[in-house]
Amino acid sequence: MSRRDPRIAVIGAGMSGLCLAAKMRAAGMENVVLFEKADRVGGTWRENTYPGLNCDVPSRYYSYSFAPNPHWTRLYSPGAEIQEYLRRVARDLDLERHIRFRTEVQEAEWIDGRWRVRTTDGTEEDFDFLVSAAGVLHHPRIADIPGLDSFAGASFHSAQWDHSVPLDGRRVAVIGSGSTATQITIALAPRCAEFKLFARTPQWVYPTPNPRYQQWSRLLLASFPALNRRWGRISYRFWQTVLEQVFGMAVIRPGWQRRLVTVACHLHLRRVKDPALRERLRPKDKPACKRMIFASKFYKRFNDGDATLVDTPIDRVTEQGIRTTDGQLHEVDVIVLATGFHAHTYLRPVEVIGPDGLRLSKVWSSEPRGYRTVALPGFPNFFLLLGPHSPIGNQSLFMITETQVDYLLQWVERWRAGEYDAATPTEDATDAFQAEMRRAYPDTIWTSGCQSWYLGADGLPALWPFTPQDHRDMLAEPNLAEWELTKV
Ligand code: NAP
Repeated sequence: MSRRDPRIAVIGAGMSGLCLAAKMRAAGMENVVLFEKADRVGGTWRENTYPGLNCDVPSRYYSYSFAPNPHWTRLYSPGAEIQEYLRRVARDLDLERHIRFRTEVQEAEWIDGRWRVRTTDGTEEDFDFLVSAAGVLHHPRIADIPGLDSFAGASFHSAQWDHSVPLDGRRVAVIGSGSTATQITIALAPRCAEFKLFARTPQWVYPTPNPRYQQWSRLLLASFPALNRRWGRISYRFWQTVLEQVFGMAVIRPGWQRRLVTVACHLHLRRVKDPALRERLRPKDKPACKRMIFASKFYKRFNDGDATLVDTPIDRVTEQGIRTTDGQLHEVDVIVLATGFHAHTYLRPVEVIGPDGLRLSKVWSSEPRGYRTVALPGFPNFFLLLGPHSPIGNQSLFMITETQVDYLLQWVERWRAGEYDAATPTEDATDAFQAEMRRAYPDTIWTSGCQSWYLGADGLPALWPFTPQDHRDMLAEPNLAEWELTKV
C-alpha cells in the first residue's frame, strides 16, 4: 500500500525547527515548510549577540547528535559559533529550501481536518500537521523602571543589543544578575571606564573554566569525518552523563549531587576577596533554586576593580543615569537591561484555533500546560517542541528537542500508514500528567523559596521535575491509550 505524504507546517527555524526538518528529510519526507519571521535561521542564537555571550552547556553536547561539529573552539562555545553551526547545518543538509524567511505566522486554524496557516502578509495554506518550534526565551522582558524613557544616553535589552553604541572607555550600567548579566559583566567590565552591575538579588555561580580546544585537534576532526563522528558520539555521551547524573539529579531531589553543587558554589564565592562584598554577593536562596549560572571570572571582575556592585534598589532612571533608593545618582552613558524574558509566552502571540473554535490564548490564559511536553488536548495533530514542562533547565536543548522530534515522527509515520487522520491527547491523560508532576515538585530545588522565571503564576515550576532519561523513556513511543484517534 502506498504511504501518504504529509504536509507539515513548522513555526520557527531555530534549533528545534531545523532538527525536525533534518530528521524529516532523513526519513524521506520533503513536504515540510518552516515559517521564519526573521531573515536567517538560529532563533535565540541569532537574536542574542551581547558581549560575552556563550553557551554554558558543553558544546560537544550542545549540538545535534547527527551533526557533530569539529570546529568548536572551546569547551563552552561563544554564541556566534553556535549561530554559525546552525547556519552550516541548515546549509549542509539543504534545509534552507524548506524555510520561508521573513514570513510570520499570525494564526493557524483547524478547518475540515487540516491546519490552515495564515501569515501576516495575508497568505493561507493547508497542512496535515502543525508544529510549534518557536522557542522559549524570545520575548524580552523590559523592566518596568520609572523614568527609563527620560534617559539621555543609550539603553537597550540584552537580547536587542545596539552594536552602534560605543562601549569602550564609557560608563555602563547593567541591570540584572542572571546568566546574561553575569556573562556581560565578565566580557564588558574590563573595557569600560566604569561598569556598575545593578543586581537586586545576587545569584549563585558554579565555577566553570572554559578551556580552548587545540587547533591541531580541530584540524584533525575536520579532516577525518569518521573520527569526528566517533569522537562526537563519545564526547556527547560523556557530557550528557555528567550533566544528567550530577546537575540533572541535583535539581530534582535531595542527595549527594545537590550537596556537591552547593559546596562548589559556596567555595567559589570565597574567591571574592573583600569579606563585606562577599556577603553582599551571597544569595539568600539555595544554589540552583534559580537557573544555575555557570561561569568563571565573574568574581574576578569585582576583585580586580573592573566592576562595581550596586545592590541598593533602583528608584528611577533620570536623564543622567540611575537613581537608587538611598538618593545616590549613578551617572552613566549606557544602560543595559539584562532583565530576562517573558518565558511563559511560548508560541504566543500566534493564535491557534482548534475544532469548535477552541483558542490557544484561552486555554493558556492562566498558565501554559500540555500533554507530556509535546502536545495539547483539544488541538489535533498539533505538536510542541521545547514547550511547557520540557526539561529545559541546565540541560542541552538539542538533546531534548531531538527526543521530542523522534516522538513526533512516530506519529507522522502512523499517519502515513493510514492509522488515523487526527490524533489528540485526552484531557484525562493530560490531567494525570499534570498531577504526576505536581507530586514531584516538592522535592525539586525550584520550590525551595526563590523567585525565578521557572515558576508560573500558580507558583509551580513550569519544568520537567524528573530525569532527562525519564523524559526519553516517556517519549520512546506513543501511548495510544492516552490519545483519541479519528479517521475522516
Ligand atoms: P533572568 O535569569 O530571568 O534574570 C533577570 C534578572 O533581571 C534578574 O536578576 C532579575 O532580578 C533582574 N530584574 C528583572 N526586573 C528587574 C527590575 N525591575 N529591577 C532590577 N532588576 C530586575 O534573565 P537572563 O539572565 O537573561 O537569563 C534568562 C535565561 O536565559 C537563563 O536562565 C538561561 O536559561 C538563558 N541563558 C542561557 C545562557 C547560556 O549560556 N546557556 C546565557 C544567558 C541566558 P530578580 O532576580 O531580583 O528578579
